[in-house]
Amino acid sequence: MSKNKKNANADIFQLLLEKKEKQGKIKWKALLESLNVKEFFENGSISINERTCQGLECELCIKACPTKALYWRDGKVGIIKDLCVYCGACVLCCIVDDCITITRKRADGTTESFSKPGDVVVLFNGINSRKRHQRVRGIFPDDEAYLKRCGKTKTAL
Ligand code: SF4
Ligand code: SF4
Repeated sequence: MSKNKKNANADIFQLLLEKKEKQGKIKWKALLESLNVKEFFENGSISINERTCQGLECELCIKACPTKALYWRDGKVGIIKDLCVYCGACVLCCIVDDCITITRKRADGTTESFSKPGDVVVLFNGINSRKRHQRVRGIFPDDEAYLKRCGKTKTAL
């Protein structure tokens, strides 16, 4: 294991202890960003179907989890629920549909639930298009603003 990875693991467990404090939350957020987790959630649930999990044959979810919330023990994948940020990386790489199920709650109260890689891709595409739309609306609040930027007016069309 590289020195950087070892340090990141130590940071994760240290920050887990401090996470409930304001300062801890700020450091937790910074650490997740450094691990390339751009969107994470404080509220949600995760479960793994032990009957369909291929366990030893893959362990892909364990390798993909950025916060080390998943581990292998006693013939099954364990979850440290306090470490899970419901990012979806494990569902995205799981080889069995509906094996890992995640439900997460956004700050605006909406909930998202997914259990297949395809669900995650659709969800991420939806999130990205909403962000793109918001960015475009920020630059061009209406049609007039867009036409003005192009040197045109509605009547000229
Ligand atoms: S959703 Fe999966 S990959 Fe993301 S933190 Fe939770 S267990 Fe890890
Ligand atoms: S990736 Fe899916 S099938 Fe593989 S160990 Fe994780 S939960 Fe089980």
